[in-house]
Amino acid sequence: MVTRRTLLAAALAGTVPASAGPLVPPEARGLWESGVTFAYGTRSLALGHHAPAALLRDLAARADAAGRTVTAVLRRAVRPVVVVPATTAEAAALAGTGSVEGLAALASEGRVIVVPGAFARLTPVGRDVVLAHELTHVAAGTYGRPVWLREGFADYVGYLGSGLDVHVAAAELAAEVRSGRAATRLPADGDFAPGSPRLAQVYQESWLACRLIATRYGERALAALYDRAAGRDLAQALRPLGLSVTALTGLWREYVRDELTARGHG
Ligand SMILES: [Zn+2]
Repeated sequence: MVTRRTLLAAALAGTVPASAGPLVPPEARGLWESGVTFAYGTRSLALGHHAPAALLRDLAARADAAGRTVTAVLRRAVRPVVVVPATTAEAAALAGTGSVEGLAALASEGRVIVVPGAFARLTPVGRDVVLAHELTHVAAGTYGRPVWLREGFADYVGYLGSGLDVHVAAAELAAEVRSGRAATRLPADGDFAPGSPRLAQVYQESWLACRLIATRYGERALAALYDRAAGRDLAQALRPLGLSVTALTGLWREYVRDELTARGHG
């Protein structure tokens, strides 16, 4: 008899037996014909296509931690599902996108899809940041917000508890600020185009905009702003904070300068 226990043992051993078909986690249905491996965390599920058991266990543990962080910020329960395709090409096909170049993971249809090669090259802290970032997209949705808000919010959650110094997490932007280039306007959606020369900096600018809002008005206010901004004009969404877009931009310019020059990190 195939029980969940033998299934887990099989998953740990590498693959789920064909006879286990109906007992494969329902989240795996339709993903792959065979070679499904999986590991449960306390609240998460990691599903792989021929993925090693140790990798899946590690991912499930990291997804548990990311899930706790996202749940705390959004104040609603999040159950992460992380999918590990066998190849980069398979990751792109699963995500329904032509290319996943430059990405270590992405959010798609309620799941986080890991891009195996790129993810493996991240540091352990980097893996946690990326998982929490993508899980935020999955759990909070991305629809109808300015790109800076959805990416900044995901990075805000991603970097929570990472212990990374702002000068490290925003190294490229810090270098610009030190060389005298001042932030002018919040990033426009077009600034996030793949291959844009300031891609790292616009993500960092977005992160700092959200970090500023959380620092000044509280994390709850940031999460509420994020919810309000879905499909709504940003000016309208900011109004309960007593802020206009111009006022936010002014505060943010000061904040970026202060955060990235205040301490002498050379
Ligand atoms: Zn993102």
